[in-house]
Formats: sequence, structure tokens, C-alpha cells
Amino acid sequence: MRWSKAHFPTLRESPQEAEVLSHQLMLRAGMIRRLASGIYSYLPLGWRLIRKLENIIREEMEAAGALEVSMPMVQPKELWEESGRWKIYGKELARFKDRHENEFCLQPTSEEVVTDLLKRDLKSYRQLPLNLFQIQLKFRDEIRPRFGVMRCREFIMKDAYSFDRTSDEAKEAYQRMRQAYRRIFTRTGLEFRAVEADTGSIGGRDSEEFVVLADSGEDEVIACQDCDYAANQEKAVAKTKHSDSASSVPEMEEFATPGVRSIEELAKLLSCSASDLVKTMILVDSEQRVLVLLLRGDHELNLVKAQAVADREFGYKGLRFAREDELQAWKLPAGSLGPQGFPIEHQLLVDEALDVKASYICGANRDGFHTRNIQLNRDLSEIRQAVLRNLQDGECCSRCGGRLKSLRGIEVGHVFYLGKKYSEAMGLCFTDESGKEALVEMGCYGIGVGRSLAACIEQNHDEWGIVWPLGLTPYQVGIAHLGGVETKERAEMAYVELTSKGFEVLWDDRELSPGVKLKDMDLIGIPFQLIYGDKAYQKSQCELKVRKSKTKDWVALGEEVSKLVDLIESEKGQMKERLEEIGGSR
Ligand code: ATP
Ligand code: MG
Repeated sequence: MRWSKAHFPTLRESPQEAEVLSHQLMLRAGMIRRLASGIYSYLPLGWRLIRKLENIIREEMEAAGALEVSMPMVQPKELWEESGRWKIYGKELARFKDRHENEFCLQPTSEEVVTDLLKRDLKSYRQLPLNLFQIQLKFRDEIRPRFGVMRCREFIMKDAYSFDRTSDEAKEAYQRMRQAYRRIFTRTGLEFRAVEADTGSIGGRDSEEFVVLADSGEDEVIACQDCDYAANQEKAVAKTKHSDSASSVPEMEEFATPGVRSIEELAKLLSCSASDLVKTMILVDSEQRVLVLLLRGDHELNLVKAQAVADREFGYKGLRFAREDELQAWKLPAGSLGPQGFPIEHQLLVDEALDVKASYICGANRDGFHTRNIQLNRDLSEIRQAVLRNLQDGECCSRCGGRLKSLRGIEVGHVFYLGKKYSEAMGLCFTDESGKEALVEMGCYGIGVGRSLAACIEQNHDEWGIVWPLGLTPYQVGIAHLGGVETKERAEMAYVELTSKGFEVLWDDRELSPGVKLKDMDLIGIPFQLIYGDKAYQKSQCELKVRKSKTKDWVALGEEVSKLVDLIESEKGQMKERLEEIGGSR
């Protein structure tokens, strides 16, 4: 590509609207432009990168046996009612009516449509296994779109769906997709971790997120420093060590705490640590059933974890905090809630960090009073313990006993083992080997294409701009001439030769100052660059620059193309070795 024929509108200044580096750089490099909140156009450079990333994804999906389809963006309400998601999806699902008053939504993901699609044609076990994928626009009316294409409303997602006869075969399909994901993100030069995740509104059982570690990431990942355990904060567990011996704890005793309404105030009044106190929280489920949660005073509740345990143990869904007026109606004092003598019917969950044999201080359920010497296993009945809190740095890994650390990350992909959730709700069956009807086992697998591109920039940039890895770069080679006619001729020769050898080359043939051309090439991040200047030309030389290391070598004219090809081939060789280590079906 000759730059003079391209439309790469680069910007010198950082646009105000950009909050994170990848967003700034995508705007400055002329890759994207905002149309409305969370809605972006891709300009030629950005779209070229999206296409490249899509192709990597496509190649790996096909190599893993998946078949590409295209499903409609606009989907009828009826299908979403069959799965039950029309009601529970909430405001993120963009809904509208057509001229005949029929209701539709814009696909945020496509489990319903793909299940329905297969239902029409699936008959025999012989047609399984099957994996269908698409790379398509999705729409989610995100409450706070931000960070450019990282969290937007309209975005490109690769979504794949596997269909199997048995749960064992479905788990194999899940593993194959997991491996394809490792290959995809390795090829795009991303440092990532596979992280255990909560299954959220898509539902189902096992689920892992592929997370790119970056300080600007919105997700909190709890990762072991010593083994490969990593989980989303919403799912992470830790080993808690409590002493084996029960201490002898005196009888419970109420004491006055006038005016005290918070853990901090109580700790201050008693000159003790918040970890000696028990925090009591009252939640209500969608059927108005009450759940009491106990946490150590210095710990923070993770509602997603509590919701998952409450659903598993008691079938409680849609948990929310009890309102002030509800507490008043139950005659419960918000500032001194406690588990003991709790006046209304409820279920109880206790966070694992609380030592049930130790002595704590908690609220007395009487305004202005607390209770000391509560020993949970002595003073409460039916204690169920689980991890309900946000884990902190330095906690103990439940797998290997190593140290857990909290890291920030960007979720770029997600793999789910769904089981029969959708096939059961929507009646997706097949006739098995013995002639009996059976429900299909499913999995679903997403990758945010635009978000992965942004994540790649978050990990690969410096003060000059983007530094594309060779696996995901708009052009492998950039050429710029900075001097007179001779330098232009040499640049053109190299351009023609490299292009004819099949390399992707961007030649900055614009009549602009050397400074602007060099800055632009570095900003858009071309990994290998040939620079032809007047002085070097006099010495029959040009510069070979490696963007990542910022190193420049003087190379004799005539040798630059072969030197460059060697560099590219050697990097490709290293990638090949990494992919061979991962393995896979290619
Ligand atoms: P998040 O927790 O970040 O909202 P999600 O769990 O809702 O994401 P999935 O339903 O698993 O996302 O979607 C699959 C992939 O689509 C995600 O891994 C992510 O890469 C991408 N994605 C999801 N929401 C957005 C968005 N608003 N903007 C850009 N990409 C997105
Ligand atoms: Mg997710």
C-alpha cells in the first residue's frame, strides 16, 4: 500500500474522549471514530486489523472442526421466551417492535437462534458432533460504554456453539475450543491466562474466561503465584487455615453501643480489629425469602459468589439487599444486625474466613446493642460455610497452598460448557444409537474481536505509539524515504521487491517532512521498517529499524531486503515452535 493512496488520518494530540491508552492510540492512529456512545466506525487501518484477527480466529476455528454460518442480527421475541431469557436479560437486550407490532431484539449472543436452527434439521446421532460459529455484529445496551471498542454497545464477536451426544463428548468439544483459543491468542501475541469464571446470565455449568493481563483491565483476577490456578474474583476460592482446637469461650453477653452503626465505629469504640467482628447482611430473593450472610468485619461481600451458593444450596434466585423499610417492618435495627436470635424465618450462610470455633462480636438485633463471645458453632444452628467474600492479596491457594495475588485483566474470550440448558428449554433432540430420543449437550464460546484488538494495544505500546506483534500487524514492513529522488527510487525498488515476494508493505510515499513520516510509522506501529535518507544513501546504506526494540541497523543498499526477510522468518519460526508446544489439530 502506498500511503499517499490510503486514508489513515493520524492525529498528533490525544483526543479528550479517550480514557485508556488503547482507545487513545486507536483514535490517534486513525483506526476508529466514534459515532454515538459505544458505537464506532472502523477506518481502513482498523478494519484491516479486524479482518486479520477474524482470519486468525476463522483458521483456528475451522482447524478445530467448527463450521462458519451467519445468523440474523434481528431475532424474534418468541425464541427468547422459549429459553426464558426474554424476561431475565434486562435492559442490555435492545428490543423493538416492527410495523405489525411483533417484538424483536438485536442479538447480544445467539444461543436461541442456533438451537432453533439445528432443531429444524437434526434427526440422528450420526449428524453429531457439530460446531457452528459466526463472526458477527452484536448489540448490548451497556449501562456504561467506555474505553472505546473495549466496552461498547455495538461490537464484533465470534460466537461458536458445540452440539454433542453425551456430556463426555461435549467436554471434549470444550477442551478443543479451549485449545483453539490458546492458539488464537498466542498467534496474536497476547499474554493471557485462562481463568475460572461465574456462568452469569448465559447459564450452564463450567466456564473459563481468557483474560489478558493489563492494569487498565476491568476484571479482577485472583491468580496463584506458584501454580496455574486463576479465577475471576466472582468465582475465586482460597484455603482458610483455622486452628483445630476449640477455645473455651465464655457465655454470650449483650453490651450497650450507643450511636454505633458501622463496623468501623464499633472497632474504634472497642479498640479492636475489624477482623474480631462479624458483619451481618440481610438479603431477599425474588420470592421474598430471607438470607442472612455472615462475614468477617474486615471482609467485603461478593454478591455474585453469594448468589451462586444461595442458588445451589436453597434455590434462591435474584438476590438483593433488604431495604430499610423491610428491616423496619421486621423490627430489625440496621446498625446492629446479628445472627443470633434472628426474629424471622431465614437461611444462613457463613463465609469461610470466619472461624466457627473462635469468639467474635456481632450485632444483637437490638438498637444500640451488640453481643460479645458469640461462638458460631455453639450459638447458631445449621452452619453452612462457603467463600462469599472478595479474596485479598496473599491468601492461600486451595490447589497448591501457594500465594494468591490480585491482578487486573481484560476478558477477551469466554468458553462455557452449557450441558442441556438450551436443548431442554427449546427441545433440541436427536435419536440415539438405540433409537431413543435424547437431548443434545451444548457448549458456547465467544471472542470479542474489537476488544481483543484493543487488548493487544494495551499490551503492546510505548511512548511513540503502537507496537504490533508480527502475528497481528496491518503491514509487516514499513518503508519511508526521507530525502531526494534517489531515496525515493530505492524505496520504490524495495517496495516492489518485498510486495512481489508476498510481504505486506506500507510505503510512506507522501511528500511530508521526515519527522512527520517517522512519527506516523511509529505511531501506527509497523514492526519492521526500512528508512532511506540522503546521508545514508551517499554511503550506499539505509536503516533497518525494529519497532519493538527501537534498534536501528545500517545496512548496505541491496542487502536490506534479504536482511529483513531473515528477521521476519526467524520470528515466524519462533511462533511456530510456540504453537507446536500448544498442539492442536493443525
Ligand atoms: P463482560 O463481563 O466484559 O461484560 P461478558 O461476560 O458479558 O463480558 P460474554 O457474554 O462472555 O461477555 O461475551 C463474549 C466476549 O464478547 C467477551 O469475552 C468479550 O471479549 C466480548 N464482549 C462482551 N461484551 C462486550 C462489549 N460490551 N464490548 C466489546 N466486547 C464485548
Ligand atoms: Mg463473560
